[in-house]
Amino acid sequence: MHPRFHAAFAQLDSRLQAALAPALNDPHFPAMFSAGQVAGLLAATGLDENALSFALLPLAAACARAELSQFNVGAIARGASGSWYFGANMEFVGTTMQQTVHAEQSAISHAWLRGERTLRAITVNYTPCGHCRQFMNELNSGLDLQINLPGRAPAALREYLPDAFGPRDLEIKNLLMDDVNHGYVQHGDALSRAAIAAANRSHAPYSAAPSGVALLLDNGVIVSGSYAENAAFNPTLPPLQVALNLLNLSGYDYAQIRRAALAERADPRLIQWDATAATLNAIGCGAPERVLLA
Ligand SMILES: [Zn+2]
Repeated sequence: MHPRFHAAFAQLDSRLQAALAPALNDPHFPAMFSAGQVAGLLAATGLDENALSFALLPLAAACARAELSQFNVGAIARGASGSWYFGANMEFVGTTMQQTVHAEQSAISHAWLRGERTLRAITVNYTPCGHCRQFMNELNSGLDLQINLPGRAPAALREYLPDAFGPRDLEIKNLLMDDVNHGYVQHGDALSRAAIAAANRSHAPYSAAPSGVALLLDNGVIVSGSYAENAAFNPTLPPLQVALNLLNLSGYDYAQIRRAALAERADPRLIQWDATAATLNAIGCGAPERVLLA
């Protein structure tokens, strides 16, 4: 079991511990549960879905990298496929506040990167901030997304975000988590191709400047991240953050990054390179290789 789970696991009910042990003891536990695994946990514990998601929240929060705030937030996104995805906040000392990832963004981008097509619900241990409410309104589940908070009845996002403004107000047809392919031709080595593939999946309807990041780890694994824009612009997730979030949730560490590639257009209206290089530098990595989308 990854050491970050030890303290939270020790506090769990013994039946849940027994049911979770096979998954958590897998050295490659991906911080998610398939629909089959969720069904197994429900049957083994006798909990309903909401109660199980609350019981699992401390494990999600244990994935936080809150080096600035020391305030761990956990989230669990529940996909339409039945799979559940952990999320946790990430902060980067030596960068700016804008580089921060909130737990809801973490769980949502995690689900998206793993191929989930839409979300039904999200469970969080603290009430979502305004930034995250706006971020969630970019999803193709829109205001119907169910929010589960401790001590409160489940409620739809529309109750947390009255007078909502979102992509539909701007007549944006492709929403976050919709299937998209920007069609840029893959070229170069495996890392470059992974960065281009990530850019092809990015959600960039406001800038028309798609981008993607791919990180090569010391064990040969490549972790990718796609850019995710927001109708209100500011809750936008940069591609590096999406990749680092997936890296962290997958149980890897920044120190394992050997190379990074950023794919963006030669003439983008928004430029990711400088912010990507600055954040990589802050976590002890070299500058990214720039891969042009054409
Ligand atoms: Zn937030």
